[in-house]
Amino acid sequence: GGSGKDYAVSGRVRVAVRLRPRNAEELVADADFADCVELQPELKRLKLRRNNWDSDTYEFDEVLTEFASQKRVYEVVAKPVVESVLEGYNGTVMAYGQTGTGKTYTLGRLGEEDTADRGIMVRAMEDILAEISPETDSVSVSYSQLYMETIQDLLDPTNDNISIMEDPKTGDVSLPGATHVEVRNQHSFVELLRLGEAHRFAANTKLNTESSRSHAILMVHVKRSVKGKDSALPSENGSTSNVLKTLKPPIVRKGKLVVVDLAGSERIDKSGSEGHTLEEAKSINLSLSALGKCINALAENSAHVPVRDSKLTRLLRDSFGGTARTSLVVTIGPSPRHRGETASTIMFGQRAM
Ligand code: ADP
Ligand code: MG
Repeated sequence: GGSGKDYAVSGRVRVAVRLRPRNAEELVADADFADCVELQPELKRLKLRRNNWDSDTYEFDEVLTEFASQKRVYEVVAKPVVESVLEGYNGTVMAYGQTGTGKTYTLGRLGEEDTADRGIMVRAMEDILAEISPETDSVSVSYSQLYMETIQDLLDPTNDNISIMEDPKTGDVSLPGATHVEVRNQHSFVELLRLGEAHRFAANTKLNTESSRSHAILMVHVKRSVKGKDSALPSENGSTSNVLKTLKPPIVRKGKLVVVDLAGSERIDKSGSEGHTLEEAKSINLSLSALGKCINALAENSAHVPVRDSKLTRLLRDSFGGTARTSLVVTIGPSPRHRGETASTIMFGQRAM
């Protein structure tokens, strides 16, 4: 892949790997077995066990162990992206991995019982709200689910087929049909996320599916008006009307943060599944492989990023390359029983670098 460390220059994707701790079941069932991976965070290396003697070593931009705090994960994975969004660029944070490895924990934890648990969405909004001025700037969000190539509004369950709009002039991608809610404080944002989760659960129950089979997409639009250089200077006679006349028009900076909790990357067993599930499997494979192709193209600095192949990649089109920053966290579990899935997640992350 690319060698430059700077996203803006190379359009390169930053990739972190995060290992979740063993859960209660794994602590018992796998008690006699070593984890399938061994992390060397200071070397930014991960060793994937091949057998009792051999392992393969992989390097990542960041290696987050089972002891990494949510705060540290935010700082490493998302903070640089949030900072550039505040400066008027687009940015994406995505989590990729097998179901149960911590994608939602990493991105979507609300942390109401313990603020230390808060995930990337909540921490990002906290940083954004702290930075903007409520009189001149605005933050609005939409929250949607992409399931079987259909986009559903998680803030309005009746709105279940949203189209993607691409501005031919600016290249901006938006969801004009989605509910956009202005966010004024952290509390109302957390309520919104909670509402979205409840709607997601209800929609998926109705469709007889699981949230692991769809992508959850939070879009945060930040609009800031940056005053012209001389705007604060009083006019010669100091009168208010003249002050207003000398104001330079404010420059509006628009940034967009997209946070994507991707569908589970596990291979869904085709032999044991029928109808609906097979279609789901195909749809997930389509969007995740299209995503993989796009981020490989970015990593290779290829002129052609094949965004047309799926709705997921069309939606992320203005977040790929150029001045946009993309951060990917691949989540893995420690269990030797899931070594195959873990290996394939690691390879997805490697190809993005
Ligand atoms: P996914 O969204 O990838 O399916 P989840 O985020 O739902 O996975 O995580 C599965 C389970 O593991 C949850 O009970 C979650 O609380 C727990 N978990 C995930 N990551 C961590 C972590 N880093 N530390 C502690 N518990 C975690
Ligand atoms: Mg999840």
